[in-house]
Amino acid sequence: MSAPTQSNWQSNWYEVDADPVRKPALTFDLDVDVCVVGAGLAGLTAAYEIARRGWSVVVLEADRIAGGASSCNSGVVVPGFACAAEAIVERIGMERAGVLWRLSEEGVDYVRGMSHVLGGSMGSPESGPDTPAGLLDVSRIDDGDAVMARLVLLAEFGAAVEGWPVERVRAVLSTDHYFHAIHFPTAFQIQPLAYARALATAAEIAGARLFEETSADEIDPAGVRKRITTSGGRVRAAHVVLAGNVGLSRLAPTIAETVMPLTGTVAVTHPLGERLLSAVAWRGAIGDAGGNHYRVVDGDRLMWSGAADPWPRDLAKATTAFARDIARIYPQLGEITFSHAWSAQMGYAVHSMPQVGEVSPGVWLASAFGRHGLATTAMAGRMIAAAIVDGDDRWRAFLPYELVWAGGNLGRAVAQAGSWVGRVREDVLARAARRREALQKSDAG
Ligand SMILES: Cc1cc2nc3c(=O)[nH]c(=O)nc-3n(C[C@H](O)[C@H](O)[C@H](O)COP(=O)(O)OP(=O)(O)OC[C@H]3O[C@@H](n4cnc5c(N)ncnc54)[C@H](O)[C@@H]3O)c2cc1C
Repeated sequence: MSAPTQSNWQSNWYEVDADPVRKPALTFDLDVDVCVVGAGLAGLTAAYEIARRGWSVVVLEADRIAGGASSCNSGVVVPGFACAAEAIVERIGMERAGVLWRLSEEGVDYVRGMSHVLGGSMGSPESGPDTPAGLLDVSRIDDGDAVMARLVLLAEFGAAVEGWPVERVRAVLSTDHYFHAIHFPTAFQIQPLAYARALATAAEIAGARLFEETSADEIDPAGVRKRITTSGGRVRAAHVVLAGNVGLSRLAPTIAETVMPLTGTVAVTHPLGERLLSAVAWRGAIGDAGGNHYRVVDGDRLMWSGAADPWPRDLAKATTAFARDIARIYPQLGEITFSHAWSAQMGYAVHSMPQVGEVSPGVWLASAFGRHGLATTAMAGRMIAAAIVDGDDRWRAFLPYELVWAGGNLGRAVAQAGSWVGRVREDVLARAARRREALQKSDAG
């Protein structure tokens, strides 16, 4: 197998068709209505929404615009949260869970709408709000009842979902590893780096000021005017939006301790030609309970991502594991080699729900979106902007999900053990399901 490219900015598949934008570093003092820390999708959405309402807003970005998870993801915009719908219902009841689900759907609609508005700058034709097909969430264990129970729950939220029987799944995904599926037709794919950069431009046009290589190092949150210190200048603002994902340990250590960083890796195969098209005829995204997420890009390549890791993973090892997983599910694809591989960190709260809301007067948090950040960063950025400027209090729907210590290294170790146990259990059940099916076929024969 050929070695993947290095884990650096150039290795990001999306870099190819997105125009780079460079912003200056902050070298002077500023007085504004709102200071946003972090120019990922959460911070950029909040900044755009605040600026277009006529308030002054500055965005401080320690690195580059969307240099983190916001440009390094799989690009699938899907409703819901990192936390399973069943667990949300168990914690807060059906009605309030339904409210949260619909907020996530508003996030999907928002990104779709913005993608249309941002238009031409969105990059390759295969990505965008009109890409076909949605997301197939496929089951690896032959348990139609469990899939049906989930469908009923989602339908009660008013979610647009459809159950697919095994034959329909296998008509588009040629593998005996998959059984039933839930189809989310409203999901779609974007070129996330192009989207983030276009959003940054839109925020600037609306009046926001963006600074790169400007780390917010200290905050004095007391008083009506908060003070944020960077190496080059200070910002005074009536409101601060903390949208730094896993990067807030210096600025806001207590908040940072409530977020566990997990590393996600994505890789893109070399062109696979016709053999891919017959194995994966589905043009939407696919997710399976083994933690695999993938979709076809560039006509005949697979963009593949596996389960997230508590500690940064060596790219060569990650891609070796991906090649093994692909070969297991689609042996007909033959040898798999990768042209691109990269990784980034996403933040998870203990409850796997986003942290959205006002943590102290005038200090707002938009964080811990996990693997569902494309729609939920939009949801959060928009809600926080509406809260600050218009006094909208819909963010209160997230109050049941308070800040909880994520357990530091111990928390990561527990997460690793938990996800390992979960994956082993899932693998055992998946193997049993395939064995059962093989026996039924041989009995029938
Ligand atoms: C491999 C991978 C695949 C994924 N796939 C999907 C997917 O298909 N669909 C989906 O919905 N989600 C996906 N996600 C999740 C999604 O990408 C994230 O949840 C989302 O991008 C988080 O956005 P954010 O703005 O909160 O954080 P980020 O994008 O990390 O942005 C935070 C920014 O804040 C800056 N910052 C931090 N601290 C400071 C400071 N003190 N001063 C100034 N700036 C600071 C950082 O430099 C960074 O640029 C994936 C994530 C990964 C890693």
